[in-house]
Amino acid sequence: MKAATPVLKDVVLVGAGHSHVTVLRMFGMKPIPGVRLTLISREVHTPYSGMLPGLIAGHYGFDDAHIDTGPLARFAGARLYQDEAVDLDLAGRHVICRRRPPVPYDLLSLNIGSTPNTADVPGASEHAIPVKPIDGFLRRFEALQARVLARKGRTAVALVGAGAGGVELLLAVEHRLRQAVTRAGFDASGLSFVLVSDVPDILPSFPAAFRARFHAVLAARGIAVITGAPVTRVEAGRLMLAGYGPLAADEILWTTQAAPARWLAKAGLPLEARGFLRVDQTLRVPGHDNVFAAGDTIAFSGRELPKSGVYAVRAGPALAENIRRTLTGRSLRRFRPQREALYLVSTGGRHAVGSRNGLVVEGDWVWRWKDWIDRRFMRKFNELPEMAPAPAAALPPLADREALKEISAIAMRCGGCGAKVGATVLSRALASIEPAARADVVVGLDAPDDAALVDVGGEQLSLQTVDYFRAIVDDPYTLGKIAANHSLGDVYAMGGEPQTALAIATVPYGLESKVEADLCAMMAGANEVLREAGCALVGGRRTRARLCRERARPGDGGATQRRSRARRWAHPHQAAGHGHAACRRHAWQGKGALGHGGDRSHDCVERQGGPNPAAARRPCRDRRDRVRSHRASHRDGARLRG
Ligand SMILES: Cc1cc2nc3c(=O)[nH]c(=O)nc-3n(C[C@H](O)[C@H](O)[C@H](O)COP(=O)(O)OP(=O)(O)OC[C@H]3O[C@@H](n4cnc5c(N)ncnc54)[C@H](O)[C@@H]3O)c2cc1C
Repeated sequence: MKAATPVLKDVVLVGAGHSHVTVLRMFGMKPIPGVRLTLISREVHTPYSGMLPGLIAGHYGFDDAHIDTGPLARFAGARLYQDEAVDLDLAGRHVICRRRPPVPYDLLSLNIGSTPNTADVPGASEHAIPVKPIDGFLRRFEALQARVLARKGRTAVALVGAGAGGVELLLAVEHRLRQAVTRAGFDASGLSFVLVSDVPDILPSFPAAFRARFHAVLAARGIAVITGAPVTRVEAGRLMLAGYGPLAADEILWTTQAAPARWLAKAGLPLEARGFLRVDQTLRVPGHDNVFAAGDTIAFSGRELPKSGVYAVRAGPALAENIRRTLTGRSLRRFRPQREALYLVSTGGRHAVGSRNGLVVEGDWVWRWKDWIDRRFMRKFNELPEMAPAPAAALPPLADREALKEISAIAMRCGGCGAKVGATVLSRALASIEPAARADVVVGLDAPDDAALVDVGGEQLSLQTVDYFRAIVDDPYTLGKIAANHSLGDVYAMGGEPQTALAIATVPYGLESKVEADLCAMMAGANEVLREAGCALVGGRRTRARLCRERARPGDGGATQRRSRARRWAHPHQAAGHGHAACRRHAWQGKGALGHGGDRSHDCVERQGGPNPAAARRPCRDRRDRVRSHRASHRDGARLRG
């Protein structure tokens, strides 16, 4: 539960990398009233690189090696948008996503990692399996294993890139495939493995003693090593190596030098020569006071940092602190990355080699040590502490005076709770009123429900419903989609054909810009669904009062007075429970619309429609009876389904 403070600042985190998970955790522990976090992440379960080789080797399950960003985002009071950022609108302060409307931000942070560079070598993108993105790699590895088994184990596997990630991954792959092939009853000696590198030795950034240990491990496992041989081309089934010639390989894995995300180049942020994002020593992007970044994606101005999870993890607290300081108008702190990191690299089995400050250790105990460190790290995100509800702050401690002035000018007006009135209360209230009697009301308050049928003349009846519900997700775009789908479902359940819709949305009080952005996202989601259904959204994006006035206007689309089906949904960020929204939808009931109720109803439609015009002109009383019989069967159907 979060305090009922209006949203004043949107912090958007792109990528659930190793730094952002810490930012989320720290903001969950100590939120800033008025600050809303949004995480845009390609996947809901974000992999922890330290456990990836163990996952491939079979020592860990998926859940051991992944952080579930759902509970973590909830803990942080953050919205989680599962999508991929593809560009930025820096002037308008929006993140452009692949599948959803642009996401507005006041402060942006990027922690999107890197990918092995397949672009520079012809054929690599088509024929090699890059280790990142990791979620994609896990799927591709399962497919690879299936192919190996289909070949009864006879497979040559080559891995290009002999840094720590590559060496560790190849040893894990070898361990897993040998076991899988043997378990399947095939001869594992049909498997062969080769490690390929363009530099003179494997693990170039590690001490000689460390490299020597791995040379010994690789030799003992029968893994060939080719160094100083850059790959010039990748073809189906072989690698072309400079100074070496062709190398046959059924399966090619790619873990070469990290490359930055390509979309950063068009986003307009300052990049260094290779395309990594420049940040200063506070992790802020120079020239962009409201943009931060961390992890593999950055070119740190202090010194070149290794593309390693260790540094991304260490950047997390500094990033969280500087985001907080920016929002509260304090001076930023420098991120001081460690000079030397502890590296623990596993060898496929439950065995590892460690290195720090030139000291090298090896053994099963080193693996257990690594396992303990990794599991402790993961527990911080998968076992979140219980937090007391944050108290509502009179005014959030933000640095933006304009925003604070604007918000304090807004009266604390509650537009009414979006909660539904209990059914008994509602029936009592409705029973106490006597609506005007009209012959064209086929189903009205005499059989109260959330839908009404009105005879508007001609062959069709008008179906009207109204409903609403509170926010069930905190993403207004998704909520709009859900609400529209739900509304359409009700029309379909009545055998109706959706025609037009009116949307009424009430959102919590707040800054105009925030309200507008959420409203736009909600309407975009609803409209997407309605369009697919061929249902025209004929009103919306206005206040409820305005829409009601429109509804009463004579001749408004020729339908609004009579044919509406409505569903109201609540805005996601109504922490105090004030917010709600509504959508009114009009639905003409078309020919065949009553057919799903059974033979008798179907019969009714036949007579009502074209084939029997005389039936269509029958007195309303007759038609009402027939509709009632349909409704009874519809309700029976609903009961049976329930
Ligand atoms: C096999 C292997 C083993 C490794 N083992 C270790 C190890 O033991 N220790 C170590 O320190 N390092 C290790 N590394 C290196 C480590 O993986 C990286 O340095 C580390 O993951 C970088 O962290 P990050 O937070 O920058 O990015 P990542 O961990 O890559 O996270 C980035 C996240 O952002 C998401 N994302 C990317 N682009 C977008 C987008 N456009 N929109 C939305 N989301 C996006 C990704 O899906 C991902 O979830 C290993 C690497 C490999 C390949």
